[in-house]
Amino acid sequence: AHTLMWFRSDLRLQDNQTLVAACEHAAREGRSVRAIYIATPTQWLIHDVAAIQLDFIERQLNQLAVQLAALGIPLEVRHLDTFSLIPAFLAQYIQQWQVDRVFASSEPEFNECQRDQAVAAKVSLVLHQQHCLLAPLSVLNLSGQMYKVFTPFAKKWREMARAKPIQTLNAPNAMTKPIATPEPIVLDVPKVSSKAWAIGEEAALAQLRLFAMTKAAEYKASRDFPAIDGTSHISAYLAVGILSPRQCVVALLSHYPDALVHDESPGRSWLNEIIWREFYRHLLVAFPRLSKAQNFNQFADNVHWRNNETEFKAWCDGLTGYPLVDAAMRQLNQTGWMHNRLRMVVASFLTKHLLIDWRWGERYFRQQLIDGDLAANNGGWQWSAGTGCDAQPYFRVFNPITQCEKFDPTGEFIRSYLPELASVDLKLIHKLKIPTQEQRFTDNHYIAPIVEHKFARVRALTELAAMKRGG
Ligand code: FAD
Repeated sequence: AHTLMWFRSDLRLQDNQTLVAACEHAAREGRSVRAIYIATPTQWLIHDVAAIQLDFIERQLNQLAVQLAALGIPLEVRHLDTFSLIPAFLAQYIQQWQVDRVFASSEPEFNECQRDQAVAAKVSLVLHQQHCLLAPLSVLNLSGQMYKVFTPFAKKWREMARAKPIQTLNAPNAMTKPIATPEPIVLDVPKVSSKAWAIGEEAALAQLRLFAMTKAAEYKASRDFPAIDGTSHISAYLAVGILSPRQCVVALLSHYPDALVHDESPGRSWLNEIIWREFYRHLLVAFPRLSKAQNFNQFADNVHWRNNETEFKAWCDGLTGYPLVDAAMRQLNQTGWMHNRLRMVVASFLTKHLLIDWRWGERYFRQQLIDGDLAANNGGWQWSAGTGCDAQPYFRVFNPITQCEKFDPTGEFIRSYLPELASVDLKLIHKLKIPTQEQRFTDNHYIAPIVEHKFARVRALTELAAMKRGG
């Protein structure tokens, strides 16, 4: 007789409340633990999961299987095309293996919640919430509603987080003697190599702890400069659950115990990013329409996006003629990751300068990002487009040239992704002379901008005003 641990986006042994609960339950009941991971290729395609993220998941599953084998827990990987096939499959599986309960970690997205409801109708499913430090729908305003603005949410979040000690859980003890080393796991989906990212929870924890010790205090000053390695690079680990948000907070508080209390704490700025992550996840649960590609602000339904496909392609390929935008898109295409400042710049450029629907950009990001995550991605896109909750006002249009002067003042970042600018005088890059066809790539010129900034700004303000007046 068995108890089943169903791994999803919690691919770790340490600080995994669900796994600990499954093991404790099995030990109490005299059962052994089996683990399963269900690969859903068509569902992933529908959800635009990036091939690099799938490769990352595959590598982590192989690590996890070895670690679990040492604890006496076999990990099995099954392929089922879509979520809809899972309930019947699990119903049959629990019969076959005499499983009393299925333990899993809850997920905030709408389809995932529907999947779990359907599964719970067929098998005894025990869900643990651990994708956020504080559970969605628990951080509420005085009227018992979810906040729609970040700052008061963050204040309440910090108050609640201070209320009880925050401690991580150890990996569970071995259930039985180690079992044989598992066969390699192969996900039957298109993949792109993620090997630039170290795999495994030990590597991820080491990276997190090193960041907390050496860089967290400088984060406020360095976080906006893409040429500086000033951020933690842990988003991919959080996205697939190699790290937990609690491990992040604990690592930070071990160096800056006052980060939850004082605005001036050197740890405060980075803590805020973890809270942003929670904010967007809480919003996703409170407003299921966010999982369904809908505008948060209903007036945004009145915007007429231009949706020019040639311009969209130029944006995707990093060929807009604006060096910062182009270098950023090439960073995304080449590495599967983009610096946060640049995510804001390119999202603003697509939705405002080109008036292309934010959903096109959101989808393209998701297809490329190793850290692709519906809540953060949707939140970031709707914020940038001004259609979201806690919106960046629609009339704030980033100037891609001044952003470049401010955040890449030496041109180091743009030159690292745009080798064609290697010898071009920086002042000229920032001035962005519009070249003739023959001058392209020569004589201190770059490719022609696809749209002129001042013209685009006025056009965006005119069209996006629909959001304000409601049509
Ligand atoms: P750090 O700066 O070190 O931050 C630490 C962690 O906090 C991150 O790993 C992340 O989990 C969280 N975080 C930081 N900033 C944000 C934010 N603005 N919103 C939510 N969580 C945040 N993040 C994703 O994880 N997946 C996405 O798909 C994603 N898409 C985005 C799209 C747009 C248009 C924008 C503007 C932002 C997006 N972000 C996304 C948020 C942010 O850019 C990344 O989390 C960050 O760049 C990851 O790098 P890091 O781990 O070094 O972050």
